[in-house]
Amino acid sequence: MTVISLAAARAEREPHWQGACVCLGCRHEWQGVGPMGVHTGLQCPECNLPKGTVKWPFGPQVGDAEFRCLCGCEAMSVYKRAVDGRFITRCMACGTDQTAAIYGEAL
Ligand SMILES: [Zn+2]
Ligand SMILES: [Zn+2]
Repeated sequence: MTVISLAAARAEREPHWQGACVCLGCRHEWQGVGPMGVHTGLQCPECNLPKGTVKWPFGPQVGDAEFRCLCGCEAMSVYKRAVDGRFITRCMACGTDQTAAIYGEAL
């Protein structure tokens, strides 16, 4: 009979992130994993202080393609417009409608 930890099995099914982390205290970098919503206060494996954070907060990693508005902003606001039910994606910095640029005209 195999005994498994219910807590570990449950944690394995929970949404989680993994990726590069950096310590804001000693600048040590490592590959980390954690539950969604917990991305700061990570214990640094080098200095053991809770000064770790994700290095690229849930954005593209090195080598990934990234969409940016012509103004340089990578943050988009996505919402369903009440008047016609269309999903709209706008640049959060300059307001340019980027819906067609990202998804095409089919939405
Ligand atoms: Zn550290
Ligand atoms: Zn913009």
